[in-house]
Amino acid sequence: MTKYVYRFGGGVSDGHGLSKELLGGKGANLDGMASIGLPVPPGFTISTEMCTRYLDEGQAFSDDLRAEVAAGLAHIEGVTGKAFGDPANPLLVSVRSGARVSMPGMMDTVLNLGLNDDTVAGLATTSGDARFAWDSYRRFIQMYSDVVLELDHDGFEEALEIAKEDNGYFLDTEMTAADWQGLVGTYKALVEKLWGKPFPQDVHDQLWGAIGAVFGSWQSERAKVYRRLNGIPHHWGTAVNVQAMVFGNMGETSATGVAFTRDPAKGDRAYYGEFLINAQGEDVVAGIRTPQYLTRTAREAAGAKPLSMEEAMPETYAELAKVFDLLETHYRDMQDIEFTVERGKLWMLQTRSGKRTASAALKIAVDMANEGLITEEEAVARVDPAALDQLLHPTLDPTAVRDVLTRGLPASPGAASGAAVFDSETAQNRAELGESVILVRTETSPEDIHGMHAAKGILTARGGMTSHAAVVARGMGRPCVSGAGTVSIDAKARVMRIAGREVKEGDIITIDGASGEVMLGEVPTVQPVLAGDFGVLMGWADKVRRLRVRANAETPLDCRTARDFGAEGIGLCRTEHMFFDAKRITLVRQMILADSEAGRRAALDKLLPEQRADFTQIFEVMAGLPVTIRLLDPPLHEFLPHEETEFADVAEATGIGVEALRRRAAELHEFNPMLGHRGCRLGVTYPEIYEMQARAIFEAACDVADKSGAAPIPEVMIPLVGTRRELELMKIVVDAQAKAVFAEKGRTLDYLVGTMIELPRAALKAAEIAEVGEFFSFGTNDLTQTTLGVSRDDAGRFLTTYVDKGIYATDPFVSLDIEGVGELIEIAVERGRKTRPNIKLGICGEHGGDPASIAFCETTGLDYVSASPYRVPIARLAAAQAALKNRR
Ligand code: PEP
Ligand code: MG
Repeated sequence: MTKYVYRFGGGVSDGHGLSKELLGGKGANLDGMASIGLPVPPGFTISTEMCTRYLDEGQAFSDDLRAEVAAGLAHIEGVTGKAFGDPANPLLVSVRSGARVSMPGMMDTVLNLGLNDDTVAGLATTSGDARFAWDSYRRFIQMYSDVVLELDHDGFEEALEIAKEDNGYFLDTEMTAADWQGLVGTYKALVEKLWGKPFPQDVHDQLWGAIGAVFGSWQSERAKVYRRLNGIPHHWGTAVNVQAMVFGNMGETSATGVAFTRDPAKGDRAYYGEFLINAQGEDVVAGIRTPQYLTRTAREAAGAKPLSMEEAMPETYAELAKVFDLLETHYRDMQDIEFTVERGKLWMLQTRSGKRTASAALKIAVDMANEGLITEEEAVARVDPAALDQLLHPTLDPTAVRDVLTRGLPASPGAASGAAVFDSETAQNRAELGESVILVRTETSPEDIHGMHAAKGILTARGGMTSHAAVVARGMGRPCVSGAGTVSIDAKARVMRIAGREVKEGDIITIDGASGEVMLGEVPTVQPVLAGDFGVLMGWADKVRRLRVRANAETPLDCRTARDFGAEGIGLCRTEHMFFDAKRITLVRQMILADSEAGRRAALDKLLPEQRADFTQIFEVMAGLPVTIRLLDPPLHEFLPHEETEFADVAEATGIGVEALRRRAAELHEFNPMLGHRGCRLGVTYPEIYEMQARAIFEAACDVADKSGAAPIPEVMIPLVGTRRELELMKIVVDAQAKAVFAEKGRTLDYLVGTMIELPRAALKAAEIAEVGEFFSFGTNDLTQTTLGVSRDDAGRFLTTYVDKGIYATDPFVSLDIEGVGELIEIAVERGRKTRPNIKLGICGEHGGDPASIAFCETTGLDYVSASPYRVPIARLAAAQAALKNRR
């Protein structure tokens, strides 16, 4: 029989050593904390396997599960000495979700479960606090009605406001026991009205309702969106954690808080966090009350008055600090912790590896390796390569003039400018039209996830550094300023007011997530300087990686950026981009529209010096490194004139009439250009184009070698080859040019002629093609398109649905379809190497910068990956991680 329930706490640890895959992150770590003797309220975890089963089997609970849950409850009762549903001494539990990886705020939680009309009196007696008991009961009804019964929660909020108004109160804390009891009556009536049945009084019904709701929340729309954005597979499911309640809202000696063992924004080695006296956990995260600092240093740095926990509860704080150190040593990583103090007694509710900004991730990994807590290689494995993106982007120009409107909390670093928008729908709609937007909200909730994703930055008026907005923005790498208290937002009127000034929807604002500043207008930015921890970690990564990393670049500036980021060569220089220059496009059009070889050659002769100049500059920047130059690839009609004036320009340059030009342009029209007259088919039909390009390459290479002594290593690449003969014909053209140029220049140079593998046929016939080709570069953009039969330009319309329905795990144009396209690559590698054992193998499709695809390139034994310049560091780190994984 499969076991589904794992108990923890009170000296028991059923899940000891079991995985997060089974217990979920939260469950595994609760068990972990309990097993090292930390004060964890007793409870049990229902495994993720049960979630999958429950959702697959029509949402029913088996008898086996019921029996296991009963044993779990008995365990909690045994440890606490309380009984579930006992009117004299009632046990209350929390029911929380917990997937393998944390999905903050995406799934459901129910607190104070086990309260009913009878047990509320027992709670009043055992706690000695009737007000607390009735407040807990009304909180429970409110939460249960929202999460489990799915009733509209506005009515509950309204009823509370009315109750306060009737009594002339301003704050919840002014409500008395009798007031809360009255509100419980109102809430129960409201439930009956909205739900058609009385609020469930049977505590076991309550529990099963909550378990079902938590499992069900895995399928909620917001959870699905979150999974899609974060590449989390739908089949993982969530665990459910049922745990004895402890209360941070039992008066002034009680508190609740969240903490990080190091600063999650900057990475400094300092405890970091917030707490609230006399409150329940959700109050901190929800950002409803502004929390107090954990440490005195942090409070003083912020110039805040309310005492820090270190000052207000020194003994408990000291105990907590010891727990922080213990947890860091145990998990060997920075921890994100939730705790509660119930009448002076510390309880640990959660620990997990803390989310952090990219710069904090770097600093923490490097520091921990230097402290001896982890090895250099572990440090390399710790930093998410994709997160480096955050570091490689601009910050505000320190010399720029700023019109500062206000300052909030620096919740997630990076600077962003855009049009202020006040709801997530508008954010998404305007972003889809290509506009940069800043999402401005009083506070965000999980429903805002799509708007936050669409926005360039997020600004909130309420909430601390651990509020929903802050946590999610950091995870997404979006700049965020939270808790900007002087901002008053009128979302209906689409306006915010700050100290007498107004910002309307569409007005441009800038936020700086590193300083917390909010500015009017667009403030210029500067490129990041990468040094310090970044350099150290990259150095460690370079020591372990096997794959070389090159860049896709075609301008000297991009080549320089790539080289500065550590590129070891150019893996793809797309020559067509050079043809669009204003000076050249007329010549290119003249070449295309010519109806004879002589006409084409006349234009190509004029293009030659231009191309040679391009290659000269690139070779100079990349001196001594390999540079792969791809000969012309796109269908010629992409260069054709569209506007009247463009036709007139070509007519004037060629002497051919506009009408004749139009006819020729119409002749070039293709129904399916991606599969049409493009790639090496251009070179086969018009060899003079490739002749000119090859000549330009060799002339430039000889010039640079003569001048600088650092000979470039040109690798001439033929695109869209499907047969050996195509490549052979093109190689003859290229070799002839090399020979001619070397003779003219009185010198020789090493060079290679190779091909892209972009067609399934090329992959299958790799053995033959390798007889001619000296290298293969996998053009996985086209190879994905041609293997899947999915147009890379039109896939957007249906790909999201395909990913949602689990047809593709992720977008195959972003992350390689390893099963399909990957198999073709493996075939080509094996067959190519059989013919030519030392054939050079690389990848230059977009996948060359994607960590998961890079891992595949490592296991397949490619020699290098090539990525866009800004992704070069990501590729270096991902290559190192792949090498480490392969070693194990
Ligand atoms: C490719 O197809 O993967 C490739 C790199 O070429 P392009 O994107 O220019 O077609
Ligand atoms: Mg291609």
